[in-house]
Amino acid sequence: MGKVISKLSFRLIILLTIIGCGKTFAWIYPEHRDITLLGVQKLDSKMRLKLDSLWLDARIGFESRLTFPIIDTLQTLNPPQLDFAAWPAIAGDHSCSSDDMLHNILYTDWILEVAAVAAQLKIDLANSKNRHKRVNALRDSDIKLQRADPRYATRAGSNNVHFLLALPTADTEVKEYLIACLKEGAELNALGAYAWFHISALQKAAKYFNEPVSGKTRSDLIRSAFADEAFALHFLEDAFASGYSSVNRHTAFKLERSLTVTWCNLRSLVRFINTSGYFYNISS
Ligand SMILES: [Zn+2]
Repeated sequence: MGKVISKLSFRLIILLTIIGCGKTFAWIYPEHRDITLLGVQKLDSKMRLKLDSLWLDARIGFESRLTFPIIDTLQTLNPPQLDFAAWPAIAGDHSCSSDDMLHNILYTDWILEVAAVAAQLKIDLANSKNRHKRVNALRDSDIKLQRADPRYATRAGSNNVHFLLALPTADTEVKEYLIACLKEGAELNALGAYAWFHISALQKAAKYFNEPVSGKTRSDLIRSAFADEAFALHFLEDAFASGYSSVNRHTAFKLERSLTVTWCNLRSLVRFINTSGYFYNISS
């Protein structure tokens, strides 16, 4: 019995250390969801209509699990369904790939428990009057999340993909830095993961619009594109979390402008979520 308790304590210490170190200054589920929700809300009406119609195609066959509107602004404490805004929150922290994320969203019951814990956490944080209460709310939710999703802690500590790559040298320019993030053999990092999944989403979206796929295959394809984009967005959001940054604010600002220009060339206009929402133009 003593051995069991000491093993349990050891695991708990490891769990709290990983959660404590890895998530204190990172976005948490309700923040990831709110960022995405606000991004969708800020789309202009033309883009929003297009996104809404793609979402309707993506939820075919999963109408009971996915909300009718792409974002659910009236989400309850025990959400019976998930909206797209929840997907980047589930990416990375509650799944290891976009396929894994989609599986968890569409087929598991525990992911709804995770959504319920997150909904309560948002309220608890809003009601917390001081830092100690906020920390207590976070720890309480971490324990509940670990119960709902037993791989929550180990997933967080398995690699550095949620973090920005450290600057190779103090005077590394933005372009060199981006190349270092994306080059073959680079350590897993947030911007590299963002680029990988975002490009994959664009390729699938292009196929959806340009190739003669129909019926179920067409829905599967756009759903998979949504999944890749959500997974990408998780890491784009992480790149602007203070605890995941290894660059200062000035460099981050330059990086933001530089990335926007780069992706424009790929007919994809990324509007950074913390300034003006986001969309990608996939029809022209
Ligand atoms: Zn993350």
